[in-house]
Amino acid sequence: MVLYSLFQGDFVVQEYKLHIGGESRDSATGETFDNINPATLENLATVQVAGSEDVDRAVEAAEEGFRVWSEVPAPRRAEVLFRTARILQERKEDLARLMTEEMGKVLPETRGDVQEAIDIAIYAAGEGRRMFGETTTSELKDKFCMTVLRPIGVVGMITPWNFPLAIPGWKIMPALIAGNAIVFKPASDTPLLAIKLVEILMEAGLPPGVVNLVTGPGGSTGKAIVQHPRIKAISFTGSLETGKWIMEECAKTMKRVSLELGGKNPVIIMDDADLELALEGVLWGAFGTTGQRCTATSRLILHEKIKDEFTARLLAKTKLLRVGNGLLPETDIGPIINKAQLEKIERYVRIGMEEGATLLLGGKAIDPGLPGYFFEPTVFTDVRPDMRIAQEEIFGPVLSIITVSGLEEAIEVANNTRYGLSSAIYTENVGKAFRAVKKIEAGITYVNAPTIGAEVHLPFGGVKGTGNGFREAGTEAIKEFTEIKAVYIDYSGRLQRAQIDME
Ligand code: NAP
Repeated sequence: MVLYSLFQGDFVVQEYKLHIGGESRDSATGETFDNINPATLENLATVQVAGSEDVDRAVEAAEEGFRVWSEVPAPRRAEVLFRTARILQERKEDLARLMTEEMGKVLPETRGDVQEAIDIAIYAAGEGRRMFGETTTSELKDKFCMTVLRPIGVVGMITPWNFPLAIPGWKIMPALIAGNAIVFKPASDTPLLAIKLVEILMEAGLPPGVVNLVTGPGGSTGKAIVQHPRIKAISFTGSLETGKWIMEECAKTMKRVSLELGGKNPVIIMDDADLELALEGVLWGAFGTTGQRCTATSRLILHEKIKDEFTARLLAKTKLLRVGNGLLPETDIGPIINKAQLEKIERYVRIGMEEGATLLLGGKAIDPGLPGYFFEPTVFTDVRPDMRIAQEEIFGPVLSIITVSGLEEAIEVANNTRYGLSSAIYTENVGKAFRAVKKIEAGITYVNAPTIGAEVHLPFGGVKGTGNGFREAGTEAIKEFTEIKAVYIDYSGRLQRAQIDME
């Protein structure tokens, strides 16, 4: 998909085309955008802007791809996914390095991101030999009833930048095993990994037109996908604001829409918790991926009895975290994705201080000797549950400490946001752990583990403002990308009327 390579200083800047109908295509707009490394501000690649004409062509190609792919038996489709997993495995290190360059997170984490794409490819491929419907009895004689799963058709996928392979993988692999065709728009901050993924799928033997890649801004390319009358469903991961708009738009063309949106994830530390274990979990949950995870720990709900001790230990450990280039082994925290996001974090720090929270640590952009967007790990205390820094998603390395007097209050505080993605409790008391599992309003609850760490064979997603009831990964992912049909087979040889012929 490379159009040309251009030497710019020491780097090679490649221009990438769109991928439509199995071919590299120039966009109709003739426009391009740069793919910037957030640590060094180098341009990694130039990428084309797809307009609505390009989206039209991608949909047309996907309809053709769907005709072919939906007729391939699911176990045969699985072979493409198994090959995809193998190629991803062979290129894991190169892809991880490229991902660190493209979006900044540290190498161990980008290796994990590639691994997640491998895992979901293998998991979804395995589903190719299941795809179970149900068989059941009929209320009438000599009649047989069952359900079968059918693909939806052409599905539009729009993804964010923080998991550039894992999140597209979570969508693409289950959609493919179910027999759908795809028009895929990745985040504009991470087009390169999406391009690599599509190249690998083609190399693994995916027929032309089954996955079509259109790069470009959400406001134009993404909008054209959402509004396209022949796209049957949208699978979206991103912010609540964009998700709401997409849901409204999809209603106009009666599209199925699955949404995975933001989070304001709490971790509760009870006074009986193993504090060292909890400390490690909070550090990883709050500052891993520079806090730029939908499941990042952003609210630390501390029992008043351990508040002072835990806070002191947390600050001591947080001060040791090193911010810098994610490619270096000594780095704990990579850059913020872009300037707008850095400014948003700065804005929230100001809001926190204006609201009366106490800034214990960090709060500023930092220069680790690179021109990119770096921010200190930041801790606020004296945070009230209704403050904006305790309610709104900041999406950066900012942790807000809220103090409570017991479990019931902790759960009330945990539930007091519009989001409901992930949550965690640290306690040695099994009763308290189960009470939290029962009462916390979230799609995921961890006991004695941080708010991050989803595995691909379990359902992933959230409640309230985090989603609209769908789950990704696990067997739920198949439901996201299939229609269910009820089938009645009457072998009585006569008309039997349900609910009427009762004898
Ligand atoms: P975003 O602004 O909503 O963007 C997400 C994707 O939507 C990008 O590809 C973006 O394109 C596109 N987009 C933007 N406006 C659009 C529109 N009007 N129509 C169609 N597409 C549009 O979110 P973000 O800031 O990149 O990502 C961070 C958010 O994602 C956070 O809220 C985070 O919690 C959430 N997230 C959720 C999960 C989950 O599974 N629950 C996982 C990861 C992230 P451009 O890149 O071109 O703007």
